[in-house]
Amino acid sequence: MKEWCKGCRFCVEFCPQHLLYETDETNSRGYHVVAMTDSSKCIGCEMCTMVCPEFAIHVITTGEEAGQGIK
Ligand code: SF4
Ligand code: SF4
Repeated sequence: MKEWCKGCRFCVEFCPQHLLYETDETNSRGYHVVAMTDSSKCIGCEMCTMVCPEFAIHVITTGEEAGQGIK
């Protein structure tokens, strides 16, 4: 949930695949939200969901591939 993100970058720092980055896009609270570079490289470890203090990031698993989304 982009609106829940407070731009703390914990997910960016802890992703073992280094897939997440801070964007120029801001939410209604003025925080820069994060996005993913290449979802095909996500290993579905859920580290990003565990470190996010705002529950703003969710891992979505489809078939044999793991993917991640920020809604
Ligand atoms: S689930 Fe994917 S995006 Fe999240 S920390 Fe793990 S590898 Fe990175
Ligand atoms: S998604 Fe969560 S951990 Fe990542 S920057 Fe936003 S608030 Fe922080």
